[in-house]
Amino acid sequence: MGKALFWLAIFIGSIFITRLLAIQAAKKRRPPPQAPSKQDKAATSSEAMVRCAHCGVHLPRSEASLINQNTWCSPAHAQLGVRNRD
Ligand SMILES: [Zn+2]
Repeated sequence: MGKALFWLAIFIGSIFITRLLAIQAAKKRRPPPQAPSKQDKAATSSEAMVRCAHCGVHLPRSEASLINQNTWCSPAHAQLGVRNRD
């Protein structure tokens, strides 16, 4: 019985040591985290925002309608025209 426990302890100990070595090797192999490149920043940079002349909501220029020198969030608000905000 004592012999079986001895070999069991050796077996578990060897597994434990093997795992520790594997974890250390993985840490060494992992490359350091890289800072985001300039291209990534350019891709995520925000687009110019414009304001709807009627309701005042801000939206990206590409989604706004430019009619009569004003920007609108929708054709419906372009038809309603400029609203004076209090
Ligand atoms: Zn609007």
